[in-house]
Amino acid sequence: MHSKKMILGKNSIFGKTTNHWYRVESQNRGALHIHMILWLEENTISPDAVCAEMPRGQDATTNQLRQLVTKFQVHHCRPNRCFRTWKGLATDKCKYGFPYPKRDVDGYGPDGQRFEYKRRNQEDGLVVPYNAYLLLAWQAHINVQRVTRTSLERYLVKYIAKVEPTFGLKISYMKMRFTNTWIQDLLVLQKL
Ligand SMILES: [Zn+2]
Repeated sequence: MHSKKMILGKNSIFGKTTNHWYRVESQNRGALHIHMILWLEENTISPDAVCAEMPRGQDATTNQLRQLVTKFQVHHCRPNRCFRTWKGLATDKCKYGFPYPKRDVDGYGPDGQRFEYKRRNQEDGLVVPYNAYLLLAWQAHINVQRVTRTSLERYLVKYIAKVEPTFGLKISYMKMRFTNTWIQDLLVLQKL
């Protein structure tokens, strides 16, 4: 399937996509990556849209997927990045929350501000959420997250700080759309 059709349109791997926004950025070493936000119709969202577990099974596809998750989607803490708070202070816990505790179902965390994924085994604690179809097709790191209103606002504030002023127009549009749609934040890091 064409990668654009996979992500956008009424039959995407996530569900029916009603809107999207993305931005291509280059990192210091020149590697391109994409930040993307998808709006989905709530009753069309695939139960497989986002997964944070190691694939477990004997068939060839599951084996291949497990290799890809191990290679691209397992978080390895980096002292300079993980153990500094967003304000730059030292901390003894990974600021990205890894390893995550086990839980049996997808749902909101205790503060109601963060979506937490099903992680039924100990080995799932370090898995960065992904979409299996996208990972098989892309074969590179792709962080796929379901975003609450609070985290979307934080995400936008981060981007307002580093993009051109015209971005402000986009934000008001996004907030309008938020009232009746579910938001999926898709962060794509392109293969080096
Ligand atoms: Zn970490």
